[in-house]
Amino acid sequence: MSQPLAGKPLRGLIIAIDGPAAAGKSTLAKRLARELNYVYVDTGAMYRALAWRVMEEGIDPGDEKELGRILQQMRIRLVEHAGQLRVLLNEVDVTEQIRAPEVSQMASKVSTLKVVRDRMVELQRAMGSQGGVVAEGRDIGTVVFPVADVKIYLDASPEERARRRFAELRSQGKQVTLEETLEEMKERDRRDQERAVAPLRKAENALVVDSSRLGAEAVVEQVMREIKNKLRAI
Ligand code: C5P
Repeated sequence: MSQPLAGKPLRGLIIAIDGPAAAGKSTLAKRLARELNYVYVDTGAMYRALAWRVMEEGIDPGDEKELGRILQQMRIRLVEHAGQLRVLLNEVDVTEQIRAPEVSQMASKVSTLKVVRDRMVELQRAMGSQGGVVAEGRDIGTVVFPVADVKIYLDASPEERARRRFAELRSQGKQVTLEETLEEMKERDRRDQERAVAPLRKAENALVVDSSRLGAEAVVEQVMREIKNKLRAI
């Protein structure tokens, strides 16, 4: 795949990837982070960890006071283990649990609140403050790192995204139908796009990549070209 950058050491850029659910953001971000030896920050996993805790404690997801209390007590760590990103919530590994469809919905509910977003943005900025980071989510290029060096808005048709998410859930043994997956995804996208605080939208200077008919490899190549151009210009 991509050629090494002749004579130029890789510098610590901030790469921001945003887009709707199941557009392929994680696959792309992981590949870029590996290729560039950068830190990968899965911000969705952080909202999911909070959502999981909210469900465990049976808290009303609209109760800002209670959410503020939980956020105070939460320590989220994203660690690499055996080539995989593991999500630790107060040192308990919740990587698998947070991928359940109910947790996806709860994550999109709690993430509408300002108290939640303020704290998450603070944590995410701390993770990327040194550069050399690939962060993916919904508001990375617009709110978390508006000064990011490379901004990507990764999209795909709802049907294609639903097919991918469905295949992923089935491979994990989850009993869902394609129709349910599509509906769940559309509802979540709507909530993410229509919320008042930090809604999902394309950053002004983001490169739009439509992965509907592109394989993961082609997407990585297109984005790597953009990154190399940026590095050459520095
Ligand atoms: O990316 P992922 O599907 O894991 O994110 C789960 C949910 O977390 C999203 O549907 C969205 O509501 C929320 N989220 C967010 N801002 C981010 C990342 C995720 O609001 N930067």
